[in-house]
Amino acid sequence: NIFADSRIKPAIQEGLKKIHFEKPTKVQEKVIPAMLSDLSVVVQAATGSGKTHAYLVPIFNEIDEDAHYVQAIVTLPSRELADQLYQVARQLRDAAGMHFSIAHLAGGTDRERQLEKYQNNTPQLVIATPGRLLDFVQKKVFVVDQVKTFVIDEADMTLDMGFLADIDQVASKMPKDVQIAAFSATIPVKLSNFLRKYMAHPDQIVI
Ligand code: AMP
Repeated sequence: NIFADSRIKPAIQEGLKKIHFEKPTKVQEKVIPAMLSDLSVVVQAATGSGKTHAYLVPIFNEIDEDAHYVQAIVTLPSRELADQLYQVARQLRDAAGMHFSIAHLAGGTDRERQLEKYQNNTPQLVIATPGRLLDFVQKKVFVVDQVKTFVIDEADMTLDMGFLADIDQVASKMPKDVQIAAFSATIPVKLSNFLRKYMAHPDQIVI
């Protein structure tokens, strides 16, 4: 059981118990150890497979609560998906009794309010749609040069919606050795070509 792995902080292990996650799903059993080993991964898995916690657990495990810089970013292709992830991430953070700030933002509305909110309050974890993320990175609201993990969730939908160029621009400002994790129901050629640019030898995980 990867949830009981000694590399995972006790607080996170307790948090998972509190939200009644006793047994990892297949995708969690495969992805969590790969990400704990700092590998970049391309994961082909459907919604409902437990993919969200497959990346949240390793991200949380790496977060330094006392360091106030952007440490991890997750992109999703719609506001609804970003909102959902924010709720799920907050639930695990609170269950684990961790203290760090999570930003969540999406295109369309609230730009000025969000600009103000995050300008003076650097979050450790950012959950965003690609366009608004790029906007805020260009405005230097988020500095991404120390990001440890970048997750592109729903990568095929992100490609279909024309967001890969935004992701590309943001990723190019991250450290060279950033860990990238892409999650997708399908891996079209255009997507794998794109991912190859950032990952020399990704661990391919098909569930
Ligand atoms: P996801 O594919 O990440 O959207 O997860 C699908 C559903 O399964 C969500 O409602 C999760 O809360 C739930 N879930 C994910 N992993 C586990 C687990 N290890 N044990 C129990 N429920 C889980």
